[in-house]
Amino acid sequence: MEQCTNPDCKKKYWLSRISDSVYGKDYEDIICPYCNTLVRTMDTSACFMTRKAEELYEGKIGIASENKLIATLTKFEKSSNLEIDTYWYDEVDSEGKVVAKYILKDSSSISPVRENNITFEKIG
Ligand SMILES: [Zn+2]
Repeated sequence: MEQCTNPDCKKKYWLSRISDSVYGKDYEDIICPYCNTLVRTMDTSACFMTRKAEELYEGKIGIASENKLIATLTKFEKSSNLEIDTYWYDEVDSEGKVVAKYILKDSSSISPVRENNITFEKIG
């Protein structure tokens, strides 16, 4: 996960690799999917798309495709070699009714190898 640099946003997003660039190595604009801030440009030979963290977690939890996760609280913690993101999510249906609640933790160790471990618990 990467974090938006806009102080009013600071949400986390991830980069999804779409394809190799047809133009070879080029600069790709990395734009926050929440607030459209240009976070950085990346020198790369692939095309990327930024995706909201929820899109990854919705698949991980396996909620119905018409439902959405709405974060009610988020906590980002960082120690020397571990990052833990905790999200409290409401799962809402297409009518906006809360049908379930979850606590999801995404922890990634920074060294020696970056590894993600996503766990979640249904709390309601
Ligand atoms: Zn943003």
